[in-house]
Amino acid sequence: MPNPKRRHSKSRSAKRRTHYKAAAPSVSSCSNCGEVKLQHRACPSCGFYKGRTIYIPKSA
Ligand SMILES: [Zn+2]
Repeated sequence: MPNPKRRHSKSRSAKRRTHYKAAAPSVSSCSNCGEVKLQHRACPSCGFYKGRTIYIPKSA
């Protein structure tokens, strides 16, 4: 089995990992109430998703 001959230094791994970045969550606005919501999730303020109401929020 091919194997690396030498182990990488910590700085070499760190240099490669400079490209690992946390992405901001993609948000959109609700088509029903206009509230900012996560994509592919029901709206937290009105419970609207894909053209219909999925649930009634407890406090709204
Ligand atoms: Zn909404």
